[in-house]
Amino acid sequence: MQIETEQLSQLKQRLLERYNHLRRDLYHELRKIGREEDFKDLAGEVHDIGEVSVADGIFETDIELIDVQARELRRVEEALVRMAQGHYGECIDCGQAIPAERLLAEPEAARCLACQQRFEREHPAH
Ligand SMILES: [Zn+2]
Repeated sequence: MQIETEQLSQLKQRLLERYNHLRRDLYHELRKIGREEDFKDLAGEVHDIGEVSVADGIFETDIELIDVQARELRRVEEALVRMAQGHYGECIDCGQAIPAERLLAEPEAARCLACQQRFEREHPAH
């Protein structure tokens, strides 16, 4: 099943809401540990969170949460970019259409299920 125009605009809305929500959360978390100046880096260009974690007095759990939020923000942002470029819903690995059910369940999905599973096997989360 291909994604329909109406579904696409709903997904865009959901992604934008998620994007704004994640940016707020990320800023809030950074402010809690006095690192709000890192927000622009994290919410902007791809950032190596490892550099931040060596900074003084930051707890591992805070960094993990911020890391998770920054990664999700990145995935959502990339989905919005693909939408703007007209490539949304195409698997970034094999180029095939990602089934609508998958996109509706996970609007930021960048890969079809088979490619995602292979990607996760090849890049296990630490
Ligand atoms: Zn694929």
